[in-house]
Amino acid sequence: MRPIAMREPEIKTLSLCPACFQKNRQTAEICAHCGVERHFGPTRREALVATLIGFAAGPFLAILILGPSYWAIPLSAVGGLLGFFICQIRHNGDRWMKER
Ligand SMILES: [Zn+2]
Repeated sequence: MRPIAMREPEIKTLSLCPACFQKNRQTAEICAHCGVERHFGPTRREALVATLIGFAAGPFLAILILGPSYWAIPLSAVGGLLGFFICQIRHNGDRWMKER
């Protein structure tokens, strides 16, 4: 009879797919069963959308608060950067997504 301790490394190298709950290798980037992919951080599209929203929201708020002024120009850049960073923070970590 094999002692239980012998089996532990085998279990540790496996991870369950969060989408289909099948076993995968711990290092797997793509689930072999259902095809979801591991993503770290925001996707390129999410980062782009967040940046564009910030880019538009910056001058919009500036005009709303200050009226039409040249502040709208630097604030659109600030807004874009802010949107990009908020997106990075919001999607910080591993996510499993099906692409294509
Ligand atoms: Zn899966």
